[in-house]
Amino acid sequence: MKAKNILTATLVSFVAAGACWLSTNQSNVKQGAYGVTTNLVTVDGTETVTGSAHKWGKDTARVYVSISSKSKSKKKLKQATYKAISRWNSTKSFHFSKTSKKSKADIVVTLTKSRNNAAGQTTTSYDLDSGELLDANVRLNTYYLLSKRYKYSYTRLVNTAEHELGHAIGLKHNRHVSVMYPSGSRYCIHKIDVKNTNKLYK
Ligand SMILES: [Zn+2]
Repeated sequence: MKAKNILTATLVSFVAAGACWLSTNQSNVKQGAYGVTTNLVTVDGTETVTGSAHKWGKDTARVYVSISSKSKSKKKLKQATYKAISRWNSTKSFHFSKTSKKSKADIVVTLTKSRNNAAGQTTTSYDLDSGELLDANVRLNTYYLLSKRYKYSYTRLVNTAEHELGHAIGLKHNRHVSVMYPSGSRYCIHKIDVKNTNKLYK
């Protein structure tokens, strides 16, 4: 029986200064041939992006946003995530449809609280044979995003969510004025992002 070839990629948006890197390990993480790609992004850091582009089989994906709106600040982050979704949808280059069932989701957005220098982190799995994405997990880190110390504005929260969703659809970093700028929260979706998404899906 042929094992399913799946690669897992983790893309992290760092908030602190330091090196930005992407490493690709072809290792047996789970059964079958797996690999892990980690992309760590810094505010002012350099980056190394390797590997080929991975994308969904079509230009749509179902997203489940698992963020409680119990506290005011989390509610704000949830709103920022929905804003990022609608901004991506308005570009018409890719469409995120919201689902209320996690089991039906292609992309799951959750919160994490970790002092790991990562404001956001996106892990994607993709089929080694076809290169198609199988699932994506976006984690928004409240340790930074909702901290008084780091003072993330609502705009930067939206930009961060847009950036991570960009990874979730297969976009890599670039050094232009772009939502995929490694800093993660400096820019919103720009023309180049729509162009790069169209390149993948149209
Ligand atoms: Zn990134």
